[in-house]
Amino acid sequence: MSLPKKAIGIMGGTFDPIHYGHLVTAEAVRNEFDLEKVYFVPSGNPPHKDPNLVTDSQHRYLMTFLSITTNKYFEMSPMEINRTGKSYAYDTVKVFRQNFPDHGIYFITGADAIKEILTWHRVEELLDICYFVAATRPGYDLDDLQKEELKVLPEEYLKRIKIIEVPAMAISSTEIKKRVKERKPIKYLLPEAVEQYIYKNELYTSGQLDE
Ligand code: ATP
Ligand code: MG
Repeated sequence: MSLPKKAIGIMGGTFDPIHYGHLVTAEAVRNEFDLEKVYFVPSGNPPHKDPNLVTDSQHRYLMTFLSITTNKYFEMSPMEINRTGKSYAYDTVKVFRQNFPDHGIYFITGADAIKEILTWHRVEELLDICYFVAATRPGYDLDDLQKEELKVLPEEYLKRIKIIEVPAMAISSTEIKKRVKERKPIKYLLPEAVEQYIYKNELYTSGQLDE
């Protein structure tokens, strides 16, 4: 199957907060598949989640905005934040499919997220309209990923899942929140503007962790 000439990427996430793991992954995928743009799409406030565990969407939106200013290929969309009800990747990709009818669409996730793909809402319809890119992150075995769990998908869908290795980055939002709460440094784990934004708005200092 030949890959489409023109393509864009979509990077979804809670981005609570966004960090260099997300940014390095998006840039690596952009380069690998020669994407015209990568759109960051922060998820809405999930109605079924305890609001104390997910930071207000305005903060997550602004931190994402601050992070993409230095990359001309990075854009963002508030569509999931503005949407009421549950936010499904399928609904988001469908909108991009309508707006970019001639482009290939690469939906970018970490390998941990792609392992859950089989449980996703309308996964086969999703794979009909986009490619999936699973970026490896430390602790997730690619061979295992390729060989086992996804094999229940029909071959035509498996071919639409691309695996790429990104520089090893053991950074997670969970770890950053924990470090802020424990007053440990977060410098060099995320863009400086986001670090300053977190301190200025006193995010993650209390009541934000599951403990
Ligand atoms: P949390 O610790 O709260 O789960 P997270 O760091 O995984 O946060 P998310 O916003 O949940 O961040 O992730 C959005 C997407 O980015 C997911 O597809 C996830 O797999 C991917 N991702 C997150 N961190 C990394 C990383 N360090 N390297 C590669 N991909 C990552
Ligand atoms: Mg995660």
